[in-house]
Amino acid sequence: MSVIDRLADLRAHVRGAVTTPDDPDWEDARQAWNLAVDQHPVFVVEAADADDIAATVRFAAENELRVAVQGTGHGAAARGGELAETILLRTSSMRGVTVDPERRTARVQAGAQWGDVVRATAEHGLVALHGSSHDVGVVGYTLGGGIGWLARKHGLASSHVTAMDVIVPSGQRVEVTDSSCPQLFWAMRGGGGSFGIVVEMEFSLFELREIHAGALLWPAERAGEVLRRWRDVAERLPDEVTSVGRLVHFPPFPTVPEPLRDRKMVLVEAASLLGEEETSALLRPLRELGPEMDTFATGPVEMLIELHGDPPQPVPGMGGGAMLAELPDAAIDAVLELCGPDADSPLLGIEFRQLGGALGRAPEGAGALSSLQGRFAAYMVGMVTGPEAAAAIERHIATTQDGLAPWSTGGAYLNFTESPVDAGQAFGTTTVRRLRDIAAAIDPDRVLVPNHQVRAY
Ligand SMILES: Cc1cc2nc3c(=O)[nH]c(=O)nc-3n(C[C@H](O)[C@H](O)[C@H](O)COP(=O)(O)OP(=O)(O)OC[C@H]3O[C@@H](n4cnc5c(N)ncnc54)[C@H](O)[C@@H]3O)c2cc1C
Repeated sequence: MSVIDRLADLRAHVRGAVTTPDDPDWEDARQAWNLAVDQHPVFVVEAADADDIAATVRFAAENELRVAVQGTGHGAAARGGELAETILLRTSSMRGVTVDPERRTARVQAGAQWGDVVRATAEHGLVALHGSSHDVGVVGYTLGGGIGWLARKHGLASSHVTAMDVIVPSGQRVEVTDSSCPQLFWAMRGGGGSFGIVVEMEFSLFELREIHAGALLWPAERAGEVLRRWRDVAERLPDEVTSVGRLVHFPPFPTVPEPLRDRKMVLVEAASLLGEEETSALLRPLRELGPEMDTFATGPVEMLIELHGDPPQPVPGMGGGAMLAELPDAAIDAVLELCGPDADSPLLGIEFRQLGGALGRAPEGAGALSSLQGRFAAYMVGMVTGPEAAAAIERHIATTQDGLAPWSTGGAYLNFTESPVDAGQAFGTTTVRRLRDIAAAIDPDRVLVPNHQVRAY
């Protein structure tokens, strides 16, 4: 009897949909947010609740299959689409969010997206350490660390997780906290999805109703002077300000505002907890360069989720990252030669997220990823319109990473890494050894297929 024949058994035990290649909605069921990743699992389970997750894990173990969990598929590229002998377990129907304003915590279900959390917390005057995009999954982001607009003040999102409800690879359900399950609690805060399937995650929130934030934009021909000035300004910014410098080729789509459509621009974005007057004084050297557009304003904290202008819906993307110890003039020159306005670059953009502040300091009792070394996290991305474009983007990302190599820390931030990488690069030798021991103990048969493996591939 084939696995597909045995599915009646699983279907009898789960409330969510089980979709096979013979079903009419197969194409939708197997689709990741990143449309460039062509996923071919054996079948797909759309979990409705924790019992569905446990039943799927047990079915996998009994049938010598593996389980790849997916909240949204933003991080699908590193795992790739060839999911041989693997069930794709989607959690996108489990999007509940509960806020406890007294304790200043939120508890979210496995498939909750940051937009869900922002809506639920804002009405209480609270904010979570979300990232730049409304539809990135809270759980996938936080398992990988999570850097957002308040990161230099409060650090990685993973450092603020307080509890997780987890189905471990044996199918058992475990409440993971510092006191109930300290090893897993440590490993799953930044160590990724190698240890269990999160059913619910609880994390701390921060009191904040308003933020001063925005972007300054110039034509990309000004990129050299703007990026140099931003780098100098960034050096002096206090932890209350998190900034990003970026080069963007805005696509020629009707969804892009007309003044930016199909234009190459250089941008400086920032979010500040200091209010308008103090922030303006800090940004004055940049404004002296006469930006063509200036969107800075003080407004409700919800506006942070729009600040970066991430895609409103799924797109076919291919990206790559680099962790930079510094960004001297020579590094900016190298970037401009490869990705500047005159370069023959297939990328839509390259950005440099400012690190430092709380991101560079390991808080007491932190998880596996306790801090990020380096001053900037670079991320570059291109739009995959076909196999030729994919090859050109892949080559260009590799060339740009090579071009930046002299200033690299040699590390990797897995949330910005879209191809397989040795986990030692992300965690260092001692931490990776501990993560591998925990993964081997909790998942000896390697049932789970995370996007980034901590164990050797
Ligand atoms: C447009 C865009 C914007 C982004 N912005 C930021 C940003 O501002 N800051 C930042 O740090 N990162 C950012 N990222 C990276 C993002 O955080 C990672 O891609 C992350 O892995 C996405 O999580 P997901 O759940 O949405 O994706 P998925 O692909 O669904 O999940 C990624 C991985 O997380 C694990 N996982 C997911 N759900 C579970 C679960 N319930 N239990 C166990 N493991 C699970 C699995 O290993 C899975 O392969 C961005 C990515 C994109 C494409």
